[in-house]
Amino acid sequence: MHVEQAINGFYTARSNYSKRELDVTFLAKSLGGPKLLYALCCSHGLPAYRTITTHRTVPRLTPSGSVPTADEISSNIASFFCQEQRPQLPRCGHLLLIDGVAVDERGCYVRETNEVVGFCREHSVGVDRLVIGMATVEYLADLIYEGDLHFGSEASVVAIAAHREDNYQAIPLVVSTKCGTGTGEDCASWLGTVITAWQSNEYGEKYNGPIWSVASDGEASLRNSRFRLCMDREVKKSSSLGLKLSRLSGMNLHTGPGDVTMTTDYKHTFKHTCARWVSGLDWCLQSPSTVSLSCGVAWDAGE
Ligand SMILES: [Zn+2]
Repeated sequence: MHVEQAINGFYTARSNYSKRELDVTFLAKSLGGPKLLYALCCSHGLPAYRTITTHRTVPRLTPSGSVPTADEISSNIASFFCQEQRPQLPRCGHLLLIDGVAVDERGCYVRETNEVVGFCREHSVGVDRLVIGMATVEYLADLIYEGDLHFGSEASVVAIAAHREDNYQAIPLVVSTKCGTGTGEDCASWLGTVITAWQSNEYGEKYNGPIWSVASDGEASLRNSRFRLCMDREVKKSSSLGLKLSRLSGMNLHTGPGDVTMTTDYKHTFKHTCARWVSGLDWCLQSPSTVSLSCGVAWDAGE
């Protein structure tokens, strides 16, 4: 096509793209995908995505094929938080955010690591996913057909966001698929690995600041893991923080590693309270001799 355009005098080779054009191309590919970028290349003369990769290093999120490991998490921290990607900002506290996103239930080959991902982390521990030939693919297919391994139906995404007035966008650290049979204990274990990786990585706590809180929605295993992870020790009363807090009567002094506390989006607290209230009302209507309060307290109406 370019030869025909050159013969007809319509083709102009370009190499001196401006920073704005490179930025727009990057956004078009990230937000709209390759088809949008191709349309903009034809209509507005934007560079191809391959041109972007020769001008800048695009941060890459390594998906976890099984339970997230310290190496995978550290690789993602270095990819997104290295000096090339982010100029150093004043250190501050950070919030670790956890939520789930629906994914297609299928496997995916990752060229960089030469392995298949997309299986549930609950049943893929110890499963050899390194592709060395058709035997590997057939072995994984057999496990799927026999029900010993599953494709993940949802991906847990862990992101980190800074407590500051600007540059506080959430940046992903982990994406891990699951089938939903994991327990809060399992979840707390690998979330602890995420916190440890952030604390030890040169571009983590030392470069950006510590994790102050862990936040999730009301999903049962995540809520369970937050309590396991963030209430496993008590602030020492001899420490500077303990000296101040221990004088507050009734104050919960339990925290997690590095004095990490837990929090949640309040809309999930409201949903949980409403669900309990509706549940209590339903029980009340079925049992006319009793009265139930939304806080779960019930007494006999005859008393
Ligand atoms: Zn499974």
